[in-house]
Amino acid sequence: MKKIAIVGGGPSGVFCAIKILEEAKFLNIKPDITIFDCNNILSTLLPTGNGRCNLAYYEFDNIELAKNFPRGEKFLYSVFSRYGTADTINDFSNLGVETYIQDDLRIFPKENSAAFVKQKMLEAIFNKVKLTRTKILEPPKGFDAVIIATGLKKQPVLAQKYGHKIIQIKPSLCGLKIREKEFLKLKGVSFNNVIFTDVGVSGPYIFKLSSINAYKNFPYEIKIPLINPELLTEKLKSNPKKQFKNVVSSFIPNALASVLINTDKQAANVSNKEIKELEFLTLTATAYDNKGEIVHTGGVSLNEINKNFKSKIADNLWIIGEVLDIDGFTGGFNLQNCWSSAAICAKNVIETIYK
Ligand SMILES: Cc1cc2nc3c(=O)[nH]c(=O)nc-3n(C[C@H](O)[C@H](O)[C@H](O)COP(=O)(O)OP(=O)(O)OC[C@H]3O[C@@H](n4cnc5c(N)ncnc54)[C@H](O)[C@@H]3O)c2cc1C
Repeated sequence: MKKIAIVGGGPSGVFCAIKILEEAKFLNIKPDITIFDCNNILSTLLPTGNGRCNLAYYEFDNIELAKNFPRGEKFLYSVFSRYGTADTINDFSNLGVETYIQDDLRIFPKENSAAFVKQKMLEAIFNKVKLTRTKILEPPKGFDAVIIATGLKKQPVLAQKYGHKIIQIKPSLCGLKIREKEFLKLKGVSFNNVIFTDVGVSGPYIFKLSSINAYKNFPYEIKIPLINPELLTEKLKSNPKKQFKNVVSSFIPNALASVLINTDKQAANVSNKEIKELEFLTLTATAYDNKGEIVHTGGVSLNEINKNFKSKIADNLWIIGEVLDIDGFTGGFNLQNCWSSAAICAKNVIETIYK
């Protein structure tokens, strides 16, 4: 009997086991699969989507889907052409997890519960896969295939032991600390997908900026869209006697307008320069606010794995999920990377060890 070790029982490791079982059933073979995890299996799935688990994103074009990955985009073109959003929806439906699409195109389980997704994934491997609670820091011996699915919460020591190069790891999809202290009193105030915190700014728009700028050195400038100058000009013109601050408050929260505008002047007296200055809120990002951190950039270099996630460095080794130098924006993209890499790897593992 062929023996397969999966190191890491997060979304990518467990989904890989599910897909290996599916491939094996189709070929009428029974590999001996062990998942090693130093923690509770699938515990990292529970906080996803604020407990609702944003499984995927409603985009069926592989190129468009890959555009949501600041790192890994080109590598993912071929990956998503072989396993994309439709496959995810279909496979989860087969597991008993029906999905729905939110207005913003994010896909969630109908139960709105990550715990439910976890339960269905565990049911699929129950009594068919061995689960061993151990930390694996050395290449496990006696296996025909080893799959590394350890994520990036910690340095991927095992991949390094096999000789893999690790691209510098940085937090991504996180809040940012800012230099401008006058905005910190706005804690809790939100606008345009941005929320002020006790140390700076957070929210989906900031997550995206933190991802795009992951390798930039602090401090750096960030620009947040505030008020369209044409719309503001129009509103000022139609309310010439109103206070400037009050007109601005019809576009952004009162508290933010009060910090930005320190004059009692009337709308009629506002200059074009003052209008232009409100197009963007420009702030200085000084550090990550690690509290909100969702994924990490960096990890195992994509130059060292082939299109089936097989290592080019070590024999019979595959590497999948977040441990790779792939990361996407928020919206279900990071889990899609887990499902796609796991499914493609599973097929290739079976083809390779049973050839
Ligand atoms: C709060 C939060 C919310 C998120 N929400 C979403 C969302 O809604 N949608 C989305 O697409 N993405 C979301 N993400 C990102 C997503 O959770 C990750 O991309 C995903 O969990 C990565 O899966 P993985 O299996 O590759 O790694 P992980 O989930 O990190 O799992 C790795 C597993 O390996 C184990 N492990 C590590 N090292 C070893 C070792 N040496 N030996 C044995 N075991 C080991 C760990 O204990 C862990 O169980 C969210 C992330 C966070 C933090």
